[in-house]
Amino acid sequence: MSKLVGAHVSASGGVENAPLNAKEIGATAFALFTKNQRQWVAKPLTEENISLFKENCESAGYGPQQILPHDSYLINLGNPDPEALEKSMAAFLDEMQRCEQLGLDRLNFHPGGHLNKMGESECLTQIAESINTTLDQSNGVIAVIENTAGQGSHLGHTFEQIASIIHQVKDKSRIGVCIDTCHAFTAGYDLRTRDGFEETFAKFGKLIGFEFLKGMHLNDSKKELGSRVDRHHSLGKGFIGIDLFKWIMKDPRFDNIPMVLETPDDSIWADEIKLLNSFI
Ligand SMILES: [Zn+2]
Ligand SMILES: [Zn+2]
Repeated sequence: MSKLVGAHVSASGGVENAPLNAKEIGATAFALFTKNQRQWVAKPLTEENISLFKENCESAGYGPQQILPHDSYLINLGNPDPEALEKSMAAFLDEMQRCEQLGLDRLNFHPGGHLNKMGESECLTQIAESINTTLDQSNGVIAVIENTAGQGSHLGHTFEQIASIIHQVKDKSRIGVCIDTCHAFTAGYDLRTRDGFEETFAKFGKLIGFEFLKGMHLNDSKKELGSRVDRHHSLGKGFIGIDLFKWIMKDPRFDNIPMVLETPDDSIWADEIKLLNSFI
């Protein structure tokens, strides 16, 4: 077991359904929302949700290193408005605690943005401070920063910005990174060619370090290089092309982390997973 590949599967009807949905498409990794991603407040997980989730993961053979939960899209840990920031931090803490309850060890989130009301470096510091506070109030779960496409005022679209957040987080054992290939490409990292791939990940290794890499989102892109727009496409059908995914699957730097599809056509996920595994 070195390459762990799956998709962001549905948890509708309860988190315990996610591992079943993952198994059905032949996944060896999966992502899920532990609550409705478009709402601020969610019902707490019940004892039944929790025990069934753990049971289903165990019987389907999924351990924490194969599972990458994603937080709500509403959360902005860099929000310049103090009241809005407080709301985001409370929601983020709740998400971390839900992961803890489910026995999971990492939570994938988008770092946030300044909404054109504060400077970039000030916002990066705010994001790091929000993470520090949340880590103090929770146990065991690694906060995994996802790189963004850089849409609007969203930060985290350059490796330098992500490195700056990590440098300001006190507990380095509980901070990580997830690279979304579509976001990286539309943020300006040219992943279409072997040279571009090598250069991009050499830069990642130098500025951030592969020890922080806790997951990948494998997506092609409907938008062009540097467009700063976040529109995923099925593998090989977008502007990135299929070669990137061959290189990733053959590269030991991407071993033993959950790598999940967030591609738009879920009816072909099983085929996309098969295709990825055929590249190894
Ligand atoms: Zn995401
Ligand atoms: Zn993503």
